[in-house]
Amino acid sequence: MNAFTRTIVITGLLLLCCLLTEQVPINGSSLLSFEDEWNYKVPTNEVPLLNESQRNLLLPFYSFVNDLKVEGIGENATNSTRHFPTSRDAKLAGDIIRTKVPCNVCNLGVGLLYAEVKSGVSMEEIKAKFVSICVSFKIESFSVCSGIFDTYGPEVVPVMELMTIGPPEVCKLIFGEICKSSDVASHEWTVDLPTIPKPNRTESTLPKVGMPVFKVLQISDTHYDLDYVEGAVTNCEEPLCCRTYSTLRSGEEPLPAGRWGSYEKCDAPKALLENMLQNIAFQHPDIDYILWTGDLPPHDIWNQTKQKNLKVIEDTIAMVVKAFPNTPIFPAVGNHESSPAGNFAPHWMTDPDHSVSWLYQKIGASWSGWLPKNTEETIHHGAFYSVLLRPGFRLISVNTNYCHSLSWWLLVNSTDPASELKWLIAELQKAESNSEKVHIIGHIAPGSSDCMKTWSSNFYNIVNRYEHTIKALFYGHSHADEFEVFYEATDFSSRATAVAYLAPSVTSFTNYNPAFRIYYVDGDHENTTREVLEHETWTFDLDTANLPGNEPNWFKSYSATDEFQLNSLRPNEWNNLIERMIQDDELFHRFYRNYYRHSPTAPPCDSKCKLQILCDLKSAKSHTKHQLCHELETAFQM
Ligand SMILES: [Zn+2]
Ligand SMILES: [Zn+2]
Repeated sequence: MNAFTRTIVITGLLLLCCLLTEQVPINGSSLLSFEDEWNYKVPTNEVPLLNESQRNLLLPFYSFVNDLKVEGIGENATNSTRHFPTSRDAKLAGDIIRTKVPCNVCNLGVGLLYAEVKSGVSMEEIKAKFVSICVSFKIESFSVCSGIFDTYGPEVVPVMELMTIGPPEVCKLIFGEICKSSDVASHEWTVDLPTIPKPNRTESTLPKVGMPVFKVLQISDTHYDLDYVEGAVTNCEEPLCCRTYSTLRSGEEPLPAGRWGSYEKCDAPKALLENMLQNIAFQHPDIDYILWTGDLPPHDIWNQTKQKNLKVIEDTIAMVVKAFPNTPIFPAVGNHESSPAGNFAPHWMTDPDHSVSWLYQKIGASWSGWLPKNTEETIHHGAFYSVLLRPGFRLISVNTNYCHSLSWWLLVNSTDPASELKWLIAELQKAESNSEKVHIIGHIAPGSSDCMKTWSSNFYNIVNRYEHTIKALFYGHSHADEFEVFYEATDFSSRATAVAYLAPSVTSFTNYNPAFRIYYVDGDHENTTREVLEHETWTFDLDTANLPGNEPNWFKSYSATDEFQLNSLRPNEWNNLIERMIQDDELFHRFYRNYYRHSPTAPPCDSKCKLQILCDLKSAKSHTKHQLCHELETAFQM
């Protein structure tokens, strides 16, 4: 059972077990109102934060500075004792597993246990039962099982108290389209789009060679592990390894953690982050601004605390500021920033024991060095903001944790948390009226299975309504190097309207080579499109770097137009790439090697895996894959 599956199963068990508990009152819950009094029509930031772009666009920008000497996935691995994942272990297999197991398990368990809710079992008994099941089924070790309960129990129990839906609805909201039951009516909602008609479509021309561009760095999913210890076991029983207490998987020889990280379940050591930041600052002294798309703390979700997370956030920000003291940085908040991970109680949960304002206050203060003072209001309200980069060019950072299906409080009420989407529409409408172009950043991409269906569907409609204004979207969270295409209708044959870039993670968790992304964005000139004109991905080979005396050799792995023979980075070109990959296995496997940054431990990818990945690329709207991939499957078999 891989880490992803285990996490899901644990989550399910926790959910089930908590249904047995006595109901715990929440301070002031009798006064709970889901109405948001906040006036989302906040004043717009109108002072440009960036200097004029200077660099000149030359396509193609560079030839490869250092070509990658990897023929195929897994071929450069030298350690025969290494754990090689099978296709079953593939991250992308998560969706497949999710489609087969958890809904049944969830429905059955919740259904059986729901009947016992009234029996008044104590918290201690529940914990003992949970830990017993968790350990005896070898889901996790005693300490992890116990820690999971201690971390998540105090959140999940009061959620259950407030919920007005039953077990099938709970499972449907968490697992989405995998559960065949109908959508949960009380969680279906729509944010109104303005009655102002959508402008007519006009095709702008791409900039000529030699036009100025902005050079933009995106770093995502750093997952800095303060407890990473070189030499600790990488092949451990726990969900996160490479720590002093990591327990060796039974029957295996210990594999020591390298200085720079591991392909196993290990996050980023300090040495890796410092080395990467120094290298970026040295190799790319001409970066205009940085997009930082979240997930700073590590994956030790069973023993996280607010204090530990704040320490990681503080330390990571200090490292980034040290490397880029004078570069504008635009962050977005990841699901791991909260504690317990994923807990982003909406605005109506004001009880300090559950509210996430402790995090918003902290990041508000930490981000204040990069953002204008008047972003404080939206950051403190919901960790989102809108800033003007240049005249006519805006950046909006959204908090996508408000669509995270494992953000438990959304089970009580998931309607536009913090009025974020209403605010987003207001910002986009102002941008459209002012003829501004917008880039959107966030953490969880809207097509992710982790993003609840209704929020995702509303967001999809917003992007389509403002397709002339939104020129690109930037996310992380999946750790893979991928993208998502939006379509005019939820139909693969309709026109592609937008593209979201899912940047590769810095952490190697799991089976990835660490990476960062550079974009070239149309700069300051007459008729600028503000489109992304090129992107390139930088990485290094972890195996080689971990050899005695070596250091990471960061190199440009590929640039998008060269690697995939794209005429531009417009949405239709990305859609064409998907279409070409359906027929062209070699092209797909090139994409797949980049997906894992040529990691030697990348799982093999068979035709089912290929179909799943192509489906993900086509699905910027979550939980519509069942319908959409059926169409793709037909094309796939042609
Ligand atoms: Zn992450
Ligand atoms: Zn994440």
